[in-house]
Amino acid sequence: MSKDLDTILRSPRAYDWARKAIEAMESNRVWPTTLNFELWLHYVAAKDGEVANEIDSVLSSGQHFTEQVAEKIAEKHLPHAKLSGEILDAGKSLTQELESVSRALESARESSEAYGQQLASASASLEHDENSDAVRAMVETLSVATAKVRDENKTLESQLADTNDELGRLKQHLEQARREAMTDSLTMLANRKAFDETFESACAHAVATGEPLALAILDIDHFKKFNDTWGHQTGDQVIRFVASVIGRAASEGRRFSARYGGEEFAVIFPGETSRSAMTILETVREEISSRILKRRSTNEDLGAITISIGIADHLGNEHTTSLLDRADGALYASKNGGRNQTSIAPANEQTRAA
Ligand code: C2E
Repeated sequence: MSKDLDTILRSPRAYDWARKAIEAMESNRVWPTTLNFELWLHYVAAKDGEVANEIDSVLSSGQHFTEQVAEKIAEKHLPHAKLSGEILDAGKSLTQELESVSRALESARESSEAYGQQLASASASLEHDENSDAVRAMVETLSVATAKVRDENKTLESQLADTNDELGRLKQHLEQARREAMTDSLTMLANRKAFDETFESACAHAVATGEPLALAILDIDHFKKFNDTWGHQTGDQVIRFVASVIGRAASEGRRFSARYGGEEFAVIFPGETSRSAMTILETVREEISSRILKRRSTNEDLGAITISIGIADHLGNEHTTSLLDRADGALYASKNGGRNQTSIAPANEQTRAA
């Protein structure tokens, strides 16, 4: 288990470690985001820990320390990241639980109402049967009992209705929390977690039904250079702009767009082929490259932003990793072909091992 960040930050060497973490991030060309800072603090302060081992193996493999890499390590080793995933899952089952309790309460409310009505009508018919004193006495007893049950039922019904309202409110809060946890806060598109879930079920659906499915990966060209020139804040605005164009274009039908990581986006096209995906995404690419963005603080022109796109069609029994891999391959073909273009992965392509 990694050393707890709180312990690291309250030790006498805290500032020393914070400086070292920033230096280590800078020398490995890692952005000082809050998540990276946390991971790299672990890296410098607990050299033999699990986080440090993971980071070392990423660095020694020559892989770039991207946002996805950071998220994967955090999910695996940082207790709070694990916890938020668990809270989400617990929220999901609690929502289901609440729905079934709410249905049970509603049906109890209906039967209690029906029971009250039956008692009332039985009591009314007995009141007209005045053949004997014994029956009259029974009618009186039943009337008193009926009135009592009716009163109790009314109280119960109102309590059930209150509980039902409260459950409804709770359910709404949980749904909102779940929506927020599935949304990327910078762009308001779906985030990586939401993408993974949707992509998994879209692939399973395509395998089960044989329906077409296309996946596109989009990446902003030369984004690092752009960030270095104009700064992170303007870089964020560019990400927001690209996201808004993608989100608008992919809003129809069952299409699903997400921020896949840093400056990368993904669009799932269930029931569609790469050809129709290409038609949509070419308009996205053209809209983005033709827009002149301004730096808001100084009104300077930021120059042209372009994106590269890779699309792949789902093949037969293909799993998520292979389809992603092929869409990624097509994206790299676009990058190698000079960027600002869209490529489709060949259907007979050998897929790399998952
Ligand atoms: P935002 O600043 O929140 O703007 C949201 C939407 O409001 C924009 O969507 C656009 O429809 C409208 N809008 C905002 N400011 C202006 C403006 O000065 N002129 C016009 N004609 N419309 C405006 P859009 O264009 O899809 O942009 C989405 C996001 O992308 C913006 O969110 C902003 O974060 C970023 N962005 C877009 N264009 C620029 C730009 O030229 N410079 C910078 N720094 N960011 C931009």
